[in-house]
Amino acid sequence: MKDTDWNDYSLETQAIRAGHRRTGEAEHSIPIFMTSSYVFDSAEEASLKFTGQIPGNIYSRFTNPTVNAFQERLAWMENGERCLAFASGMAAIMAVGMGLLKSGDHVVVSRGVFGNTVLMFQNYFAKFGVESDFVALTDLAAWEAAIKPNTRFLFLETPSNPLTEIADIQALADLAHRHDCLLIVDNCFCTPALQKPLDLGADIIVHSATKYIDGHGRCVGGAVVASDEIIEKAIYPYLRTGGATMSPFNAWAFLSGLETLALRMEKHCANALDLARWLERQPGVERVHYPGLVSHPQHELAKRQQTGFGGIVSFELKGGKEPAWNLIDSTRMISITANLGDVKSTITHPATTTHGRLTPEARDAAGIKDGLVRISVGLENIEDIKKDLSAVNAFV
Ligand SMILES: *Cc1c(COP(=O)(O)O)cnc(C)c1O
Repeated sequence: MKDTDWNDYSLETQAIRAGHRRTGEAEHSIPIFMTSSYVFDSAEEASLKFTGQIPGNIYSRFTNPTVNAFQERLAWMENGERCLAFASGMAAIMAVGMGLLKSGDHVVVSRGVFGNTVLMFQNYFAKFGVESDFVALTDLAAWEAAIKPNTRFLFLETPSNPLTEIADIQALADLAHRHDCLLIVDNCFCTPALQKPLDLGADIIVHSATKYIDGHGRCVGGAVVASDEIIEKAIYPYLRTGGATMSPFNAWAFLSGLETLALRMEKHCANALDLARWLERQPGVERVHYPGLVSHPQHELAKRQQTGFGGIVSFELKGGKEPAWNLIDSTRMISITANLGDVKSTITHPATTTHGRLTPEARDAAGIKDGLVRISVGLENIEDIKKDLSAVNAFV
């Protein structure tokens, strides 16, 4: 639960100030509470807390003060009533499914969501009788056509990975609500610094905190943000039992990540736009995918829905896989790794890594060409990033 009212403050201030309840030691920085359990004054107090008659810490699988601080801060930043932290982004997505779904339910998911999210629905929820249909992210009619009487929620990521397609959150929220479903948005790529899905009508946000929220490639973590009712009835009881809790150390790292999030996102966006425009001018580049480019099919929607265009740029090289691998191997500074949202720029070849297990046909349907390269644009000097990409003549 939130205590101080940070409603009158902007996101940058919430990111630095919200969530910290100072202890008797008068510390200025949030401490890491490394404790698995908590002590009671009496048997009666223990009983009242265990039975939920009075609030308070019992055991760190349920609550921990450092984790609570992270949860409160992110809830304020997303304009949500409540947030719960998880051990990873996948654990957060798992919790939403476990909390909300039962055998016989149906969900609609955008094609091209994070690979493990696809597997979660296809391989695991399916085992327990939950049916999933996958639709094209930007095709509103396809979403509507896929909804059935037993559809419980719609699930999407926007912008999508790696092609940066944009979904109209408000239109999909209206659609979901007309059919008595919930809309769940994975807000990992934008973070609340660039996009607030709950303000646009979404019901639940999931996060991989591993990416921009940490921002420095250190910790794995995740979060769910939703109404008090959804958290209290569906998500918290599962967390308490399922046990994929965030560690206090990681919560502490994510808290400091949040403090610089808005500033970092601003620079990620500026560097990415600069790089995307530069890539568009390279003769060896067939096509650049970045919502900030006027050539992007949902550029106007991105302008309306987001306050920045994000830090992920992907582009297709003429000639397919060979020039793509050559370019990747020629870089000396940019890291060859699939992680994203780091201050360090990273580069990947989706067709042979993140999407390497798909059949060529499925890859084609997803628009993942052999010449496609994805860059998570970091905070290094943009001219150094361009220079690193110019080491071989991949572009001519
Ligand atoms: C990385 C990622 C996830 C999974 O998060 P983990 O923290 O790696 O478990 C989910 N969704 C998106 C969009 C991601 O990029």
